Amino acid sequence: MRTQTRTNYGRRQRSSGGIRILMALGMAAFALFSYFGSKQYNPVTEKEQYISISQEQEIALGLQSLPTMVQQHQGEEENRDIQLFLDQVGERLVNDSDARDTDWQFSFTMLNDEQTINAFALPGGPTFMTMALFNDILDASSSDEQAEARVAGVMAHEIGHVVARHSAQRLAKQQLTQGLSGAAVLATYDPNNPNSQASQAAIAMIGNLVNMKYGREDELEADRLGVRFMAQAGYDPCELIGVMEILESAGGGARQPEFLSTHPSPANRVQEIENAVQAEIGQSCP
Ligand SMILES: [Zn+2]
Repeated sequence: MRTQTRTNYGRRQRSSGGIRILMALGMAAFALFSYFGSKQYNPVTEKEQYISISQEQEIALGLQSLPTMVQQHQGEEENRDIQLFLDQVGERLVNDSDARDTDWQFSFTMLNDEQTINAFALPGGPTFMTMALFNDILDASSSDEQAEARVAGVMAHEIGHVVARHSAQRLAKQQLTQGLSGAAVLATYDPNNPNSQASQAAIAMIGNLVNMKYGREDELEADRLGVRFMAQAGYDPCELIGVMEILESAGGGARQPEFLSTHPSPANRVQEIENAVQAEIGQSCP
């Protein structure tokens, strides 16, 4: 009598395990299907990309996160001349380049943060630079013209992230990752041990695989677009290399440059920038 009860119990366990694996496969299939069903052509990068939100949604998303980003970096820089200067550089880059032919809602904000060396873009068009990075560029440049070209280099890179829709692309990939890791959790989920090492490892592995690879490519693509926009707007694109040197020398010390942790090593990027300059204007950098 007792033996039979145990056998039935075991069978029920196996069958619910089978349902879990079926559900996991279903979720993974759905995640992959939604992801690969969202292909769009980007006229600026001339590439097909996977994006799950509309341009309007993307712009709204950026505008919604804007106040928080400003707040996290001690607000907007109060010196109106500096703010106006960044605006003029940004407008010149957008109005005199391929970025002009897009519907993105660009804005250029200098942030009051004098500790964190950084620049970034939000989905849909808002771009930012911190005073810490601006001051480093001023200190390391030998003329106003050179400093302006380097500021333009940073902003052109960020405009590149916007028009290449890297945030929306990352969002679509994140949804894919969550769909797949949800599936992985279900498949290896042990009811008696929900935080099993196997479950955690599967999530981490899938997450890293998708996110790390694309992050690096995005940065290099933003550099290439940055070089193109700089050249089109009449800035010397070789000055983007100067920005990399500033970032690299800021690598050590107490002020941890966030820009470095979210970007590939500046030294690795210099060669790629030189290649892009050669491709865009047919010249080599000094
Ligand atoms: Zn970047």
